[in-house]
Amino acid sequence: MNYFNYVDNKLWCEEVPVAEVAKAVGTPLYLYSHRTLKRHFEVFDSAFENIPHIVCFSAKANSNAAILKIFINEGSGMDIVSGGELYRVLEAGADPGKIVYSGVGKREEEIRYALESDILMFNIESPQELEVINACAGKMDRTARISLRVNPDVNPMTHPHISTGMKENKFGIDIEKSLDEYRHAAKLDHIDIVGVDCHIGSQITELSPFIEALDRLKELIFSLRNEGIGIRYLDLGGGLGITYDNETPPHPQDYAKAIMDRVRDIDCTFIFEPGRVIVGNAGILVSRVLYTKAGADKRFVIVDAGMNDLIRPSLYNSYHNIQPVELKEREDILSDVVGPICESGDYLARGRVIPELERGELVAVMSAGAYGFPMSSNYNSRPRVPEVLVRDGKFYVIRSGETRADLTRGESIPDFLQ
Ligand SMILES: *Cc1c(COP(=O)(O)O)cnc(C)c1O
Repeated sequence: MNYFNYVDNKLWCEEVPVAEVAKAVGTPLYLYSHRTLKRHFEVFDSAFENIPHIVCFSAKANSNAAILKIFINEGSGMDIVSGGELYRVLEAGADPGKIVYSGVGKREEEIRYALESDILMFNIESPQELEVINACAGKMDRTARISLRVNPDVNPMTHPHISTGMKENKFGIDIEKSLDEYRHAAKLDHIDIVGVDCHIGSQITELSPFIEALDRLKELIFSLRNEGIGIRYLDLGGGLGITYDNETPPHPQDYAKAIMDRVRDIDCTFIFEPGRVIVGNAGILVSRVLYTKAGADKRFVIVDAGMNDLIRPSLYNSYHNIQPVELKEREDILSDVVGPICESGDYLARGRVIPELERGELVAVMSAGAYGFPMSSNYNSRPRVPEVLVRDGKFYVIRSGETRADLTRGESIPDFLQ
């Protein structure tokens, strides 16, 4: 459920016409609905109200400070994957005691920063990382709280690029080897084992992979407890999918129920790391049609947003609905909606039957709130676009668009070239 709706054939975000924002701010722009963001968080969080839990929003899905702050105000913790994200979430006011840190390539400097910040725990992804964290903590005279991120070898039945919990993926520690690794961790002086973690993938639209992973983790927890290794947190990661086209992912309440039915015999605090399910359908990318032209067997609609602004279609061949901001009587026509970037892979939709769009009109690229702006780049020297948040009848620029001067910031020409 979201608050992007047509009223009198015009697309609105809450009580603001999308065209009004585009006129004031210029295109392209990312537009988010505060009411949708808040609602999605509340629905997810309250689904688990009967068990001790922390929702740690996955900051990489959308790391704008204002958006993080909405969730922080709702009591959210944060799932981070870099020192940069730790900086962002702390700046936004996140409680360090609710921050979990995942990622296969944590640098020592990042580890020290996280130890200094006293985050809740590191989700460790390799035996070497465990040693490095132990050593860093020792030098700082601290103890690192950790979980091992185990790879349960479950097929999440999603796009291969966003599958993370299968044997061939780089993430986590093979579940078969994890018991030994925990035994080893238990002997380290500066390590405090507090949990077990997994994250099996993203845009998962079935319950069964989550359940399979949970069952494997439960077995591990019982084995650990038998050996006197106490587990206080069970982190089940994120990954719940959303509807982009005609997918029918489980509702967060069904997801929660399936999990809660299976964890009555485990006494711990549960951690969830949702990203996409919270922000995906709470944001759109608004773009203007620059040109249209007839191809050999389809029409090209050239818009002012490209793969540098929203890379998901190019990267994962993912589907985003493309809708005119103003509806009117017209034919549907087979089209490619493409950007201005000099790459054939630069498209937002390919071979799609959509209304016959005209030069100058606005289009909305739907479901762009997750992995949209954070994955954007300056490729082709295009300034990154503004982000705008609507709340009720008002809108707020929460990140201004970059200027041309931003494009060369930090570059310098050495003397010998002058
Ligand atoms: C990306 C990521 C998430 C969030 O995934 P979604 O599919 O957006 O819910 C959660 N945990 C980890 C470790 C991640 O890398």
